[in-house]
Amino acid sequence: MSIDVVTVDGPAGAGKSVATRALASRLGIEYLNTGAMYRAIALKALRLGLDLQNEELLNKVARESTLESRQGRTFLDGEDVTDAVRAQEISRLVRYPAGAPSVRETLVELQRKIGLERPIATEGRDQGTVVFPDAACKFYLTASPEERARRRLGELERRGESAPFEEVLAQIVERDRGDSNREIGPLREPEDAIRVESDGKSIEQVVGEMERAARERLSFLRR
Ligand code: C5P
Repeated sequence: MSIDVVTVDGPAGAGKSVATRALASRLGIEYLNTGAMYRAIALKALRLGLDLQNEELLNKVARESTLESRQGRTFLDGEDVTDAVRAQEISRLVRYPAGAPSVRETLVELQRKIGLERPIATEGRDQGTVVFPDAACKFYLTASPEERARRRLGELERRGESAPFEEVLAQIVERDRGDSNREIGPLREPEDAIRVESDGKSIEQVVGEMERAARERLSFLRR
């Protein structure tokens, strides 16, 4: 039995957030950004001045925090941190909570709980493989590292931050390596996922492709 969840996995900067948010809205379901959850833990640990290499402390933060997703926005202990967690500094630090097995366990459990309560479109690295292996519809959204670095740079510039292209590209390549090589919840293309390449495509094209496939697969949309 499959469950009414749409998963979107893929590397950093592939356009998962924009595409998944738009897809969820077209399908009339909730959007969940699981990267923002790992980022929120990094943000809180940073604010508390904790040693991010201390897994036990990080997992204590994860277990004792209230992480919620409402209308596609991420709330940490009631505060909307959707924008704050996108800062460059958090992108650098997020590998600590994302690489901590106990933190992953805590957040995976929370993600499953959210997905079982109502239909969602959820994006991350391990959504179709580890968190929702029974999802009715799985996507693997990807693009070349250069295209992804250009997009990340555009995003930073819109936030008033800047960084050299080479630095952003190196960060993307480094994050790909970390995401693919960690032991728990590594970035893997689910065998049963639909692969969507977003290089040179408009967001409209990408979301249109995904929507058609999702409508065929989600039972509650066919009724
Ligand atoms: O997608 P985003 O760049 O916001 O993800 C931030 C980081 O969180 C990624 O580099 C990845 O290591 C981690 N992540 C993860 N598992 C997920 C989602 C994100 O490990 N399901």
